[in-house]
Amino acid sequence: MTEPIRTPIIKWGAAETAGAIAKGEVSAVEVAQAHLDRIDAVDKKVNAFLHVDTEGALAAARAVDEKRAKGEELGPLAGVPLALKDVFTTKGVPTTCGSKMLEGWIPPYDATLTTRLKDAGVVILGKTNMDEFAMGSSTENSAYGPTGNPWDLTRIPGGSGGGSAAALAAFEAPLAIGTDTGGSIRQPGAVTGTVGVKPTYGSVSRYGLVAFSSSLDQGGPCARSVLDAALLHEAIAGHDPLDSTSIDAPVPAVVEAARMRDVRGMRIGVVKEFSGEGYQSGVMQRFEESVELLRELGAEVVEVSCPSFTLALPAYYLIAPSECSSNLARFDAMRYGLRVGDDGSRSAEEVTALTREAGFGDEVKRRIILGTYALSSGYYDAYYGSAQKVRTLISRDFDAAFAGVDVLVSPTTPTTAFPIGERADDPMAMYLADLCTIPSNLAGNAAMSLPVGLAPEDNLPVGLQIIAPAMADDRLYRVGGAVEAALNDKWGHTLLEEAPAL
Ligand code: GLN
Repeated sequence: MTEPIRTPIIKWGAAETAGAIAKGEVSAVEVAQAHLDRIDAVDKKVNAFLHVDTEGALAAARAVDEKRAKGEELGPLAGVPLALKDVFTTKGVPTTCGSKMLEGWIPPYDATLTTRLKDAGVVILGKTNMDEFAMGSSTENSAYGPTGNPWDLTRIPGGSGGGSAAALAAFEAPLAIGTDTGGSIRQPGAVTGTVGVKPTYGSVSRYGLVAFSSSLDQGGPCARSVLDAALLHEAIAGHDPLDSTSIDAPVPAVVEAARMRDVRGMRIGVVKEFSGEGYQSGVMQRFEESVELLRELGAEVVEVSCPSFTLALPAYYLIAPSECSSNLARFDAMRYGLRVGDDGSRSAEEVTALTREAGFGDEVKRRIILGTYALSSGYYDAYYGSAQKVRTLISRDFDAAFAGVDVLVSPTTPTTAFPIGERADDPMAMYLADLCTIPSNLAGNAAMSLPVGLAPEDNLPVGLQIIAPAMADDRLYRVGGAVEAALNDKWGHTLLEEAPAL
């Protein structure tokens, strides 16, 4: 008998990879090397990685192999490679946040999330490209050039975590980490045909996550399947005394939920406000089919109205810039990274100004100016104060909706991946990419995007967004797992297998 031909290592999911390593069918070093080779082969085209840590990855993989050889127990993700968004600090490994400001900066410490990954035996391949300081929806705001969408390299992979999503879709890594302040995990997931989850605010530590908007920022898992995302979610979530907003409560049973594949008896709300003008027809078509599928699978579907959601975008674009103007004040040319014009003839103030002029890109400057203005004493109540009130209204809309349904659903983003360059000079058009994702950041609850097919007009992936109450992240996985299983059954394969070869 001949052995069945197994798919190449780079196509394996995280659960499958960890299983094969644990059984000794393959070594962690072989797995790491296969992914490093893939990065070598395709990343010049994709530009998902800002830094590849070949030595670190192979050393971590060797450590897993040694543990196994000694008969020690391996965790559920031991030896699985991962692409880490370059906004988390990594001891001894460059962290740039996609900015010239931090070019060459080597953090002296690991983020809590980084530590947890290492403790789980996850093999960190390198750091991924992103919009500068996580501000953007296309990864075009990176100081290190845009990332291409593996479905069509002339299109954006979403943002700000475009590098992490592209690394998954290009089979450069089976797992990735993103951060979601207004949609930067979910929108890249949607436009690349991958799964992305924004966990409940406060459930994944922000310690060592370079701050953009502290009351909104949340790290989370990115993967090619719902189960893999759940495994990663479990590895990174949980209380951290080093983060003052960290929730001290047990992590919801997301892995168990991902395996249930049963939505019978669940009540699902379709958000009325997330449709209409500006929504691409193929996106709406796939979304409506997904709603129908949920009905067929035994869920009860109702329409709900969340009237304040239409105010979410303007509220976000006051709150996020306000917080960023304060957070980014630390880049003063004295503490980290770049320093321009320090030739002995200039004052510290002049050096700071010259460094910020050279080190920050246009979008970052735009937001710092906007935020500084919104926080100024004469305008504080009119802008920041009002935005915070809108935030409360949005939370109330969610509370009212969740009184009657278990989860809400919507398209993740109004359109599929747009061409690189199309919205680069039009901030308002760029901001619209997060129309459906921002309310959950403002309210702090949990949300997922998962692929539900291609838009017929452009053959590009469409994402379904599932939204759950705070600390009910397991519901995302229960619904997502059921939808994914039904679609894969129907198609006979996963959506990513339809992506053109790179
Ligand atoms: N696109 C949004 C912004 O530009 C969200 C970014 C994010 O989630 N990091 O702010």
